[in-house]
Amino acid sequence: MSEDLKQQPGLDALKPYVPGTPIEEVQREYGLEGVIKLASNENPLGPAPRAVEAIQDELKNLNLYPDGQSYRLRHALAHHLGLEPDSVTVGSGADGIIMQVCMAYLDEGSEVVVSESSFPVYDIYTRVMRARLMKTPLKGYGLDLKAMAGSVTSRTRVVFVCNPNNPTGTIVTEGEVNAFMDSMPDDVLVVFDEAYYELVDSDDFPDTLSYVRQGCRNVLVMRTFSKAYGLAGVRLGYGIGVPDVLGPLNRVKEPFAVNLLAQAAGIGALEDQDFLQRTVELTRVERRYLYGEFQDLGLEYVPSHTNFVLVKIGPRAGEVQTRLKREGIIVRPCGGYNLPHFLRITMGKRAQNRRLISALQAALN
Ligand SMILES: *Cc1c(COP(=O)(O)O)cnc(C)c1O
Repeated sequence: MSEDLKQQPGLDALKPYVPGTPIEEVQREYGLEGVIKLASNENPLGPAPRAVEAIQDELKNLNLYPDGQSYRLRHALAHHLGLEPDSVTVGSGADGIIMQVCMAYLDEGSEVVVSESSFPVYDIYTRVMRARLMKTPLKGYGLDLKAMAGSVTSRTRVVFVCNPNNPTGTIVTEGEVNAFMDSMPDDVLVVFDEAYYELVDSDDFPDTLSYVRQGCRNVLVMRTFSKAYGLAGVRLGYGIGVPDVLGPLNRVKEPFAVNLLAQAAGIGALEDQDFLQRTVELTRVERRYLYGEFQDLGLEYVPSHTNFVLVKIGPRAGEVQTRLKREGIIVRPCGGYNLPHFLRITMGKRAQNRRLISALQAALN
């Protein structure tokens, strides 16, 4: 027998997601100590302490399956958001929710609208489902919502609006989103990916939950505990939408996608608004520090609403990234985002950011 295994044809067009290089890998490869990772938009303050306590309290129950409905966590989230619990679903990170959206709403022949230079996980699960990706170019460094609306056809099932956008850090405003929603057919699901919601510093940011409150049947808002609450390692994200929107997502979900410790951590994190405020404050202060230093280095950057900044290095971006890595500083190259002359740099604490800036200065010379 010499028949080859036949993989699912949707995988033919698929490139696996490339995560930020792990700290240990750089330590091994270069024999370095004190490596810092400013590549995956992780929280430099660590995890929310009350989430850690909640996990510790839950450890003794690890022999039990978690609650498949995540009852307590969904109720805590609903209370936090001022919504009904049946308007909230939880998943294995926002990534898990994206996967559920694609499984629930796409098939061969359907279309998905995304922007160029946006979050790559939308592309992965769209391709897995053998649906077609329609990509619109950026306008400046931000999403072009008019072009995205213009790409919608009768085959379009889902539009992913990454707001703020990763990797550019830009937002689309309330006015832009309202006009966009006015033009959207009722049978197209608009997914607002608000992974950095808590870190946005703008009066023009849209209140997308108001669509859910109005009973809008084609909106899903996604948020996560990975960034502002410092829980990237537990894998916990959530989706907010009316029950009609969430129903199909719940039908395709893994029975226990959110594990016991993640459910406990989420409840603990929501009680830790003090940690959240410290994160918001650090982000605001360090953003300004980096802007000033980039200016002094003569580097162009994109003003950000997140805990990362896209900075323009030029044709030597790849070389500069490698030199930083040799100094034990991991940043994100942006070739895969179609922005090869840029690096995406996550804000660390001040001492880490200082180290980054002096290594960057050396690498540029
Ligand atoms: C980090 C990130 C996610 C994924 O978050 P998880 O909850 O860790 O899966 C989703 N969308 C965007 C834009 C992100 O930057």
